[in-house]
Amino acid sequence: VTSAPLRVIGTGAQVPLNDGRTTGYANLDYAASAPCLEAVHEAITRALPYYSSVHRGAGYASQVTTEAYEKARETVRSFLGAWERDAVVFTRNTTDAMNLLAHAVPSGTTVIVFETEHHATLLPWKRAVRLPAPASPLEAVSAADRALAEAPAGPRLLVVTAASNVTGELWPIAELANVARRHGARIAVDAAQLVPHRPLDMKTLGLDYVAFSGHKLYAPFGAGVLAGRADWLRAAEPYLKGGGASAAVRDGGETTRWSADPEQRHEAGTPNVLGVIALAAACEALATTGWDVLKADEERLLTRLRNGLAAIPGVRELTLWGDRGERVGIVSFVVDGWNARDVALTLSGDYGIGVRDGKFCAHPFVHHLLGAPEAPLEDGAGGCGSGQTSAVRASFGIGTTVEHVDRLLDALARIAGRPRG
Ligand code: PMP
Repeated sequence: VTSAPLRVIGTGAQVPLNDGRTTGYANLDYAASAPCLEAVHEAITRALPYYSSVHRGAGYASQVTTEAYEKARETVRSFLGAWERDAVVFTRNTTDAMNLLAHAVPSGTTVIVFETEHHATLLPWKRAVRLPAPASPLEAVSAADRALAEAPAGPRLLVVTAASNVTGELWPIAELANVARRHGARIAVDAAQLVPHRPLDMKTLGLDYVAFSGHKLYAPFGAGVLAGRADWLRAAEPYLKGGGASAAVRDGGETTRWSADPEQRHEAGTPNVLGVIALAAACEALATTGWDVLKADEERLLTRLRNGLAAIPGVRELTLWGDRGERVGIVSFVVDGWNARDVALTLSGDYGIGVRDGKFCAHPFVHHLLGAPEAPLEDGAGGCGSGQTSAVRASFGIGTTVEHVDRLLDALARIAGRPRG
């Protein structure tokens, strides 16, 4: 994706190889964390001289920083097409945003979630109806429809990922939002893997909540967003209790009036001001670039990669829906006779290619795609999983070149041609 008038930092960085040589790094791990945009770096550099605490300070630097922080909220609101009345809460990341939403959901809410979700979106719910992997986008919509029809009376929330972090496949969020609306339910969308690749407009799509992370959107780590309807957030206990969330405190801390403002209420403590400014700078840079350029470039690379993988004997791409529907620049695959970890380490050490291996924090989904039985819990291979029942994931975005893709394909052709003994 190189015709975009945006550049990332770190392309062309030299990395060591096993044989002592060095080579230019082919970063194909954008779905984990994307490199930083130059525009983001510039925004941080501009903000640094006025680095100060927000909301409470009276000094000039505090005023400037507060203004930048609140402006960032409006930039994100417009980036997501959220309503003026929606809350835009800054969190640490998508995981934090989904946990905040789970915390704010009224008690008795039926949450409906597909088992294909990333753990951040699969696990935070106290009471959830879990739907198995649907065989097609259409079936996803009818499964959600049925589950909502069968759900007991009371608040209902459908939770779904817009773009899969395992297969890159796009879920039919517009149709799912329609179904939710027809049942008087709400819909929350994990947009962590969508917003780096495609525009998303909450108003047009009819989405009630959206979560995403700055570090997948070409900004640094530590800032994320939960945007959406303010009522549940306003009514919930503060997610974190402390300064900022409290409007008035008396009786030695025994009684507190919490802030009625849903953002203040859930952003206790000193926020990650620079992270938020960086995240907003990324939103602005992407929105002003024009998505068509990014999308066209990305689709060209994606087609090259997928066709190339299909042509290598012994390499199998993992997909839920085959070639049905659109997808973003994320492709997972397995290599016959090879452990995913060994493939990933060989790609790094012998070819200077950075990919991810494991179960991508989506254990039930990866097991489903591999047709592999689940291991006992005690055998868990750590946080996000690795080992035999794992896959390799290549993912890309701004700064990825045809050379990166071709290097991966050449390397895989060699690896697949020499089964591990
Ligand atoms: N959802 C999806 C679809 C993701 O890809 C990820 C990151 N892998 C997350 C949620 C969690 O994001 P974070 O680690 O930034 O909280």
